[in-house]
Amino acid sequence: MIAIIFGPPGSGKGTQATRIEQEFHLAHLSTGAILRAEVTRGTEIGKEVGRIMAAGDLVPDEIIVSIVRQRLPESEAGPGVLLDGFPRTVEQARSLDEMLAEEGHRVDFVIALDVPEDVLVDRILRRAAVEGRADDTEDAIAERMHVLDYYRQKGVRVEVVDGMGEPDAVFERIREAIGISSR
Ligand code: AMP
Repeated sequence: MIAIIFGPPGSGKGTQATRIEQEFHLAHLSTGAILRAEVTRGTEIGKEVGRIMAAGDLVPDEIIVSIVRQRLPESEAGPGVLLDGFPRTVEQARSLDEMLAEEGHRVDFVIALDVPEDVLVDRILRRAAVEGRADDTEDAIAERMHVLDYYRQKGVRVEVVDGMGEPDAVFERIREAIGISSR
């Protein structure tokens, strides 16, 4: 099973991804976490992407795709994969489809966390104050919509889940959405 969790910064994507991973025993592949580790370790990639990430911009597709190309095979060896923070552009989505097709796999479903803009801004500002993380950009927002359209057009199930409320309540909605999609 290949699933994608999709949501803007501040949507609770990271929290929910960890819970989905534990509940459904999926290999959790987070491009944001991989990139942050590269920055911390001061690798070549880390030096290249540090400033981009701090500005809240998207890291170039080539870098992201090459990271996923390296990491995906070990994740695909298990019962399922949860992709977190990837793909974020249509170009990345196309590359992912190609990589998966090589193994006879495909994206089974996308969980898109939906949180109203004003709530996101509020959460992001609070997080920026605590973690020093930057804002989302308009380009990134538009690109996310294109990615969802891309999957819808391909007939991949996109489950839009209300991301408001307590993490437990949101997770319950995700569980229901996954239950429906596996029937
Ligand atoms: P995240 O933890 O998913 O919010 O990612 C943190 C930051 O890493 C993002 O703001 C981007 O700068 C970068 N990043 C993570 N995943 C991607 C991706 N798939 N494409 C481009 N940039 C990414």
